[in-house]
Amino acid sequence: MMAQYLEIKDAHKDALLFYRMGDFYEMFFEDAVAASEALDIALTKRGKHDGDDIPMCGVPVHAAEGYLLTLIRKGFRVAVCEQMESPAEAKKRGHKSVVRRDVVRLVTPGTLTEDALLEARRHNFLAAFARIRDESALAWADISTGAFHVMLLPEVRLGPELARLAPSELIAVDGPDAPYGLAEDLGIALTPLGRSSFDSTAAEKKLCDLFGVSTLDAFGAFERAEISAMGAVIDYLEITQKGKLPLLQTPVRDAQERVVQIDAATRRNLELTRSLNGGREGSLLSAIDRTVTPGGARLLDQRVSSPSRDLGTIQNRLAAIEFAIEQSRLAADLRDALKKTPDLDRALSRLALDRGGPRDLASIRTGLEQAQAISDLVSNSEAPDLIARAALDLVGFDDLTALLDTALVADPPLLTRDGGFIARGFDSDLDEAVALRDEGRSVIAGMQQQYIKHTGITSLKIKHNNVLGYFIETTSTHADKMLSAPLSETYIHRQTTANQVRFTTVELSEMETKILNAGNRALELEKRLYDGLKGSVLEVAARIGTAARALAEIDLTTALADLARAEDWCKPEVDNSRAFRIEGGRHPVVERALRREGESFVANDCDLSATDGAAVWLLTGPNMAGKSTFLRQNALIALLAQMGSYVPAEQARIGLVSQLFSRVGASDDLARGRSTFMVEMVETAAILNQADDRALVILDEIGRGTATYDGLSIAWATLEHLHETNRARALFATHYHELTALAGKLAGVENATVAVKEWEGEVIFLHEVRKGAADRSYGVQVAQLAGLPKSVVARARVVLDALEQGEREGGARPKALIDDLPLFAAAPPPAPRPVKAEPSPALDLLQGLHPDEMTPREALDALYKLKEAVKT
Ligand code: ATP
Repeated sequence: MMAQYLEIKDAHKDALLFYRMGDFYEMFFEDAVAASEALDIALTKRGKHDGDDIPMCGVPVHAAEGYLLTLIRKGFRVAVCEQMESPAEAKKRGHKSVVRRDVVRLVTPGTLTEDALLEARRHNFLAAFARIRDESALAWADISTGAFHVMLLPEVRLGPELARLAPSELIAVDGPDAPYGLAEDLGIALTPLGRSSFDSTAAEKKLCDLFGVSTLDAFGAFERAEISAMGAVIDYLEITQKGKLPLLQTPVRDAQERVVQIDAATRRNLELTRSLNGGREGSLLSAIDRTVTPGGARLLDQRVSSPSRDLGTIQNRLAAIEFAIEQSRLAADLRDALKKTPDLDRALSRLALDRGGPRDLASIRTGLEQAQAISDLVSNSEAPDLIARAALDLVGFDDLTALLDTALVADPPLLTRDGGFIARGFDSDLDEAVALRDEGRSVIAGMQQQYIKHTGITSLKIKHNNVLGYFIETTSTHADKMLSAPLSETYIHRQTTANQVRFTTVELSEMETKILNAGNRALELEKRLYDGLKGSVLEVAARIGTAARALAEIDLTTALADLARAEDWCKPEVDNSRAFRIEGGRHPVVERALRREGESFVANDCDLSATDGAAVWLLTGPNMAGKSTFLRQNALIALLAQMGSYVPAEQARIGLVSQLFSRVGASDDLARGRSTFMVEMVETAAILNQADDRALVILDEIGRGTATYDGLSIAWATLEHLHETNRARALFATHYHELTALAGKLAGVENATVAVKEWEGEVIFLHEVRKGAADRSYGVQVAQLAGLPKSVVARARVVLDALEQGEREGGARPKALIDDLPLFAAAPPPAPRPVKAEPSPALDLLQGLHPDEMTPREALDALYKLKEAVKT
């Protein structure tokens, strides 16, 4: 056995080997050590190898999914090795032969299909990046839904594109050029494959075979790099699924130009699908997700990640939402029907990979029945294009649903091997076998009475277990009677346990064989019928996939309509102009957070409409006033509009945005050797080098992480470059008030500020954005609010006054000022002077009190006396 183990392990060095032994998957050697630590299970040993103990650990087969999930999350890959024959079959080859075993599947992050291992509401993409000469491409597939895409992609765009798709695994050519750093940054598992997996000629053949065509031209004019990337995906699926290929849809060719370009930093900063702390909560996605099906949720995730640049597409989606808002009764009915719709995509993919069961067939049945009902609801209305077309994709499954309906019981079991999922009356052979089996069972129940009468032992029972099968059981007190004549002639002894004795009879054994045969035959027949039904489903797999996408579209539309109505969002006007005019805009996530605390959000306008030049708002204002919120909310409104959703505003007109850039807040990337300032500059450089005149740029406090004059100069030059060269629409928040002078010089730059009120030395935030420049930052006041020690705040005020005075008097340098200012240590803030107490009877009384020794009554009396004393 060990020899077999080592041979199989040798072929799967980079994975943990789950080696099937009976009801367990066992792991040995280093695998056992690593897995026992990762899974927190006991490490034992078994036998010796080269004189040393062999470490071993194992997990029960029935609970394997949970363990698999933990291992995959911790970055392992797992090769699942099954027994390919029963021990009895192995024995036929010779007394000592080992059961034949083989790896049936390699479990990796990008190739999961089980519901327990997947997030229902997210895609699970496997991506491959290929280079051929100076061309490169990215292909990606989700085998749990069948989605398959490819696009040409210059290598510099790989990072942003991976950030958009967030695949869980990336395949690349093995070698020093493999993008290890990038994958690590984005939390993607990188799997290097040999060059042969990327061979484009072999890939073309593989793709043609897979889709049953003689040329790929039918799907689009693919470049070699694209074919190579798609081929690598297929090759890897063959490797991991051991030849069983999932149902993939025909490849869709994407183009970067169709979606708004958003780089990884911008996605992170705007917290589109994940918040800055990495969770879903607090992200835009979680704030707007009202979908009721997993498919709808996955589509929303995709739309948020890839807003469109196609006016027609956007307007169709908006029209559909408008319809759903107007037809609120219909929309509610649709949502009710959708709630009852199971995940068709994932059930289908499990059936195709032979990992499914009766429950997946039932999901297809229920899903398609609901699809029909949804289509009926829509067809009675005057639905706009998007919804009407989706409804057409939902029909035409009558034969299949009728078949599944008569074939399956209402609530079938998860696994085929459990049997009992085919309804009575569907197959006469099966009915006959089941009747025989059940009849046998009732005969056995009758036998018990007969034996009780025969032996006179009223406590006698007929039981069943997996080792003995059916047996007669009596307590040991009756052992002597049973084991001696005349009873011993009929009752054959099988087993004695601590308290029981067990027997059988010739009659019982015969009946058992009959039941067993009938039961086996019934199970056999059920399995065959299951295969037949599965075949019928897979025959129309492509159409079921299309129906699943249509359901997702309807779910998303009605969910966005529900959101728009409940949150009072408006339909944006999106066109080809360069307008950007938002009235009464709000930040969807901050607004929600404030509402939870019982506070309301102050809506603000923004107008960056440009004719031929740039349009930049230079936003100044105190700390904590709401500058970052304002910046982000406008970016999010643009993004929502272009994904085809209503927006949190009273009115919005947005000329198509091609790229969205944001540089917000500070974070360092010490792992890659970049300081906070360096990260800031790298991100700023990316924006200035790439933004075109259709870009929307959000810059928050550029140049903050360095000395004042360096920072100011960088911010200055950046603003000029955005205005003169990029000619973008931009929001630029800064604390460098000196920049506000630029508004007078640059035609497209306007000043805006977030208003505050000052009251008794404290600031009150109004969160109102107005035209004009702020006079100061109120940083010291905000620091005070934050709880900085009083002495530090007082000292900061002194320094600030001196600096400001110096500036007024001809720009004295801070260095010179420092010489003039008394040192911190030498000038502690004036300590509160001890108050010299005036002689007072009340004070004398107070000093004489000993609270610990007083009763409540005495305390109250003392209080009255004190009050009296003050009066006098
Ligand atoms: P800093 O300059 O310190 O970075 P900031 O001006 O960028 O501050 P924000 O971080 O945008 O300020 O906002 C601070 C807080 O003010 C937010 O957490 C939010 O609670 C509140 N706030 C911001 N905008 C609004 C608004 N329009 N209505 C109500 N509250 C708001």
